[in-house]
Order: sequence, then structure tokens, then C-alpha cells
Amino acid sequence: MEKYICHDCGKAIGKNEEYMPYKVGKDLYVKCRACHEIDPVLKNFQKAEVYSRVVGYIRPVAQWNKGKQAEFGDRKEYLVEQACCC
Ligand SMILES: [Zn+2]
Repeated sequence: MEKYICHDCGKAIGKNEEYMPYKVGKDLYVKCRACHEIDPVLKNFQKAEVYSRVVGYIRPVAQWNKGKQAEFGDRKEYLVEQACCC
């Protein structure tokens, strides 16, 4: 048996330990028994493609050059306060 790592807690699963396999396409994810009992649903296993605006165009951040990706990492989100009419 190849060595498996629990998707949720990151613990290495021992030779005689029980685990739950999740096959997603060609990928295999496993959960240890304890994590499976806490939450039997596999979550957060897909990469999310993030789009943002760069030099006027909305493009996937993964396709930006390294300099622009670093600049994206430095960006901060903020909320503009609503203007009040009263
Ligand atoms: Zn686990």
C-alpha cells in the first residue's frame, strides 16, 4: 500500500489504519477514520480559478506574469462606505 495522507488533518495513515477513499476523476483523496466520522463529505479539493482585473482586462490570476501576481498578493479588499442622503 502506498502511503496516504488524510485530506483534512494531514496525518499519515498507518498500515493497519482504516481510511475512506474518495475518487475524483483520476485523483484519489483519503480521510482518516476520525475525520470521516466528523465530516463524511469531501470538501475543498478543487482549485478555484480566481479572476481579477489587470491593465483593464478581467483575466485569470494564474495566467498573469509573476510581477503582476505579486502585486495581486499585495492588494487589500475594502468596502466603500455608502453615501448617506440624510
Ligand atoms: Zn484526518
